[in-house]
Amino acid sequence: MTDEKPSGSNNLAPKNIKQIDPTNLGITWTDGHESVYSVRHLRESCPCANCIDEWTGEKRLDPNSIPDNIRPTKLHSVGLYAIQFSWTDGHDTGLYSHDLMRKLCQCVVCQ
Ligand SMILES: [Zn+2]
Ligand SMILES: [Zn+2]
Repeated sequence: MTDEKPSGSNNLAPKNIKQIDPTNLGITWTDGHESVYSVRHLRESCPCANCIDEWTGEKRLDPNSIPDNIRPTKLHSVGLYAIQFSWTDGHDTGLYSHDLMRKLCQCVVCQ
C-alpha cells in the first residue's frame, strides 16, 4: 500500500472542522489552508433550492429572516465533496461543496 495522492489536484477536503467561538467556524484543509467563517455568512450563502433560485442564481433567502443567534447544530460530510449543515432555524437542505466552502472563506489571505 502506498499513500500517494490520486493524480489531479482537485482533492481538497476539510481535515479538521471546529467551532472557534459561538459565531465563528474554522476549517483546516488538507492543503494546510486555515479557513475562518462567520456562521451567519455560511447560513446566508446556503446553496439549496430554497435559498437560491436554481434558474437565475438569484438569492431567495432574506438575510433579515435569519435569526441573529443562528448556529450550526450539526455538520457532516456528504461523500467526498460536500458538507451538510443543520441549523438552529431548522434548515438543513444546503449541501456546501468543498469548492464553495473555499470560495466562502473569510480568512485574511482570501479576503
Ligand atoms: Zn438553503
Ligand atoms: Zn482562506
